[in-house]
Amino acid sequence: MRLSRYFLPVLKENPADAQIVSHRLMLRAGMIKQAASGIYSWLPMGFKVLRKIENIVHEEQARAGHIPIQMPILQSADLWRESGRYDDYGQEMLRMQDRHGRDLLFTPTAEEMVTDIFRAHVSSYKDLPLTLYQIQWKFRDEVRPRFGVMRGREFYMKDGYNFDLTKEDAITAYQRHFVSYLRTYERMGLTAIPMRADSGPIGGDDTHEFLVLAETGESEVFYDDLVTVNTLGNQDVDFNDANQLQGIYDEWTSLYARTDETHDEALFNEVPEDRRRVARGIEVGQIFYFGTKYSESMGANVINDQGKQVPVHMGSHGIGVSRLLGAIIEASHDDKGIIWPEGVTPFHCGIVNLKQGDDEADAACDGLYKALTAAGLEPLYDDRKERAGGKFATMDLIGLPWRITVGPRGLKNGVVELTSRRTGESEELSPEAAVARVVEIYANH
Ligand code: ATP
Ligand code: MG
Repeated sequence: MRLSRYFLPVLKENPADAQIVSHRLMLRAGMIKQAASGIYSWLPMGFKVLRKIENIVHEEQARAGHIPIQMPILQSADLWRESGRYDDYGQEMLRMQDRHGRDLLFTPTAEEMVTDIFRAHVSSYKDLPLTLYQIQWKFRDEVRPRFGVMRGREFYMKDGYNFDLTKEDAITAYQRHFVSYLRTYERMGLTAIPMRADSGPIGGDDTHEFLVLAETGESEVFYDDLVTVNTLGNQDVDFNDANQLQGIYDEWTSLYARTDETHDEALFNEVPEDRRRVARGIEVGQIFYFGTKYSESMGANVINDQGKQVPVHMGSHGIGVSRLLGAIIEASHDDKGIIWPEGVTPFHCGIVNLKQGDDEADAACDGLYKALTAAGLEPLYDDRKERAGGKFATMDLIGLPWRITVGPRGLKNGVVELTSRRTGESEELSPEAAVARVVEIYANH
């Protein structure tokens, strides 16, 4: 993309109403525009990152064997009356009527809808296990929408639902989600720590939240510092291998990590003092096992191998796709702007032309642009007639992890400059070598 042809409405001034850095930077970098309280339009660069995050979620869901579907945003209240949640959910649920006076609601989550699909089409244990998921807009009429996309009213969420014959199988599904989520966040360049949590209005027996540590996080968390260095890394996970999943799950949950809802001071004090941490975190996902809560109230049964009708065991699992943009920025920025991890960056590499209109500089930039594009990467070429300082400030603000700077002086010596946004370090290389370096960096992303 050439910046002169893109739509990147950056703001010069700090928006007054944005209290936290990610909200401020998303507005300044022209990623979102507020439409109403807690409701946003996604401008091109914000939309691009949203799609990148969404794609990672889809790829990791596929890897775990989960099947994508799409359920409606507007749902009939009658379905929610069956589970009893139409009355229980309270004011966070946005309710409305159609022209015939029928009650509808804007989906805040979709346990009822997916259970209705299941009971209509699945009747035998032979069709299990089954996990269906969607990535869909949700609406919750939050009392205090704030921090931009972090606590919106309209937000984008992956919600998945597992159906299993036995509790044991459902626990395997729970652990499969646990490991799959670890992979998902790692690919986004995030450290998201699974913490034992409280199940709240969804109800249930077992639940973990995944939290990104940040001072601006809304949850208080208590953990053993060793959990922060745990990674799956390149570990080869077989999502069909229940023993391996259990092993990874046990390893991660053996260290103390809890939110304030389940915090246990006595247990926490067993962690060596120098490793005990009390901090704040942003919830970017949550997994639940809740057994037969919905299948019993809504009649979602299967016939087991003894020919007996039994309610299925279920769980639900959510990732805050739109909230993740805020969380990633909270975890990765400096005073100049965003620093995107390679896995989610809107463009792979910036190209800054120091002397637009100079034949040689223009030709070199065009060459770099073509070569990067041919290698399957997306460069963002700042081809505007602007001063170098302004171009650098824009690149730093929007946070592309790599930048190639091209100017007549360097070209005389046959070099361009490759700069890391994260470290600020630069290297002089021939244009060909710079392209090769960038291609190599992205080979693993
Ligand atoms: P919270 O405690 O932050 O209100 P929740 O526990 O009610 O969230 P879940 O039902 O677990 O939310 O939803 C799954 C994920 O969706 C959460 O982990 C979070 O990342 C995201 N999410 C929930 N509410 C919002 C919101 N208002 N705005 C943006 N993302 C949200
Ligand atoms: Mg939650």
